[in-house]
Formats: sequence, C-alpha cells, structure tokens
Amino acid sequence: MDTLQKTIGKPAECSGTGMFRGESVRIAFKPAPANSGINFVRVDLPHRPKIPANVHFLSSTVKRVFLKKEDAEVEGIEHLMAALAGLGIDNLEIEIHGREVPAGDGSAKYFMDVLREAKIVNLDGKKQIFKIQEPITVINGKASIVALPHDEGLFFSYTLDFDGFFIEQQTYEMEFNEEIFSREVASARTFGLSTYVEEFKKMGLGKGITDENSFIIHEDGKITKPLSMNPAELRFPNEHVRHKILDLIGDLYLANVGIQGHIVAKRSGHSLNVELARKIANISHLKRKMLNSD
Ligand SMILES: [Zn+2]
Repeated sequence: MDTLQKTIGKPAECSGTGMFRGESVRIAFKPAPANSGINFVRVDLPHRPKIPANVHFLSSTVKRVFLKKEDAEVEGIEHLMAALAGLGIDNLEIEIHGREVPAGDGSAKYFMDVLREAKIVNLDGKKQIFKIQEPITVINGKASIVALPHDEGLFFSYTLDFDGFFIEQQTYEMEFNEEIFSREVASARTFGLSTYVEEFKKMGLGKGITDENSFIIHEDGKITKPLSMNPAELRFPNEHVRHKILDLIGDLYLANVGIQGHIVAKRSGHSLNVELARKIANISHLKRKMLNSD
C-alpha cells in the first residue's frame, strides 16, 4: 500500500445530472494540502459551507450517502468516494454547485477518468494505516460485515444474496489496489430491484436515471434497462456484486484511514457499511490517542 498522501496536481471539473433529484450540478476539484482531508464546499450557498467527507458528518444512508454540517448537505457521494479510494486521493477540495453529486455513468469510472486527467501527485505526509488486529463485526438481520486481520494490504469478499429471488447468489473477491480496482470494479454500475421502482417514483426520486447509468433486476431474473425496459447489456456478467464492493469501498473511505485487513461482507448496503466505517474510525482514533499518551 502507498505510504504517502495524495492529491491532484491541478484543478479539474465535471458536471452532470444527479441520479436521485435529476438536477444538473457542476463540480470543481481542487488540490488540497496534506492532512486536510476530503472536503465538499457548497459554493452555491451563502458563506460556502465546508462539509468534511468523514463518518462524523454522515446524516443518512437511505439508498445513497448523505453528509451534513449545520444546514448544508451533500448527497449521493458514494461513487465519487469509491473513485477517490481507488486512486488513493486523501486530500481534495470538492466545490459543488448544488446538493447532489452528478451520477456520471452510474459507477466510479467517470470520476476516476476526470481525476486522472488532473494528475495524481504525492504530498509530504504519510498515509495513516489502521491494521485490523481483532475481528470487528457489524450485523443487521441477514446482512453482516466482518473485518478480519490480514497479513498485507486490503482484501474484500462480498456475497450478494436475495434469498433465491431475483438472481442467484453472487460472490466476488478482490485484492484492493488501484490497478485491480480500476480494471475489475470501478466501472460496475448501480442497479435496482424492480419492486423498488414504484416506491422510488412515489418518493419523487430517480429523476436522473438513464438507460446507460443503471439497470434493473426483475423478479423473474430478467435484467433490463430502467426506462425503455429493453434487455440491459452488462459490463460484467456479475456487475451487480462488483458494484456492491464499489459501494463498500466508497463507504469505508469515510473512516478517513487506510485499512489493512480482510473485509468479508454479506448482503450489506450503505447503512451497514458506514457502521463499520464508524467503528474503524473510532478504534483507530483511540489507538492513536493511546500511542500519543505513551
Ligand atoms: Zn452504488
């Protein structure tokens, strides 16, 4: 794992429509110094409130991840966070002209392409790595995640399981590094279950969904585009489980610490993912405090 913190070498911009609200949003990425972290800045609001991308500012995880500081909120940050994790970017200012991150192509690839154009550079500061030394578990009903000790680096195992409905169980395992993440996971798009579509519409959400940025799994196992309902062409036969790992990677990045361990997840989604991120952030903070007081 890299030991130096990273940012981008020059500013970069992107824009697009948010997946949930369908509003068009512009984002400017700016380099940031070591130890400043990832921060969203709502430049469309008076006083330009800054919202740090870490577990202490999480406000909700209903179908997407929200951060909130005082009255300012940003939402739908998870695929951008996964892109930052994949590229190892620790410090970045993200100026956002609106409340929802653009959907891009429904994966992390769009953001990775934009950020790579801005050249990733090392900073004069070491990355903090938290070594999992004993199992850390979070459970909610049939969903669970266990973080286990691992000799080197970060390894993920994820099992997607809808109790035999929709699609067969899928398991995917990967060692985490930039190359493997970019090739195997970054382009896996978001998806929904057909049974949620009506619920979504009632909530007034999903206005930025297109036939290109997501797909739908139906109860009979058919996979279609979300609007035209034509058969969807998947980017990987198991794009679903790969996207679940992408979400998990983005959510764990809110712990603001590199992880050495083996993360074994079953059926987990944003709410359980961030519960693990919170636990990891708390334990690593305590450990650092103890080290400093020695
Ligand atoms: Zn996602």
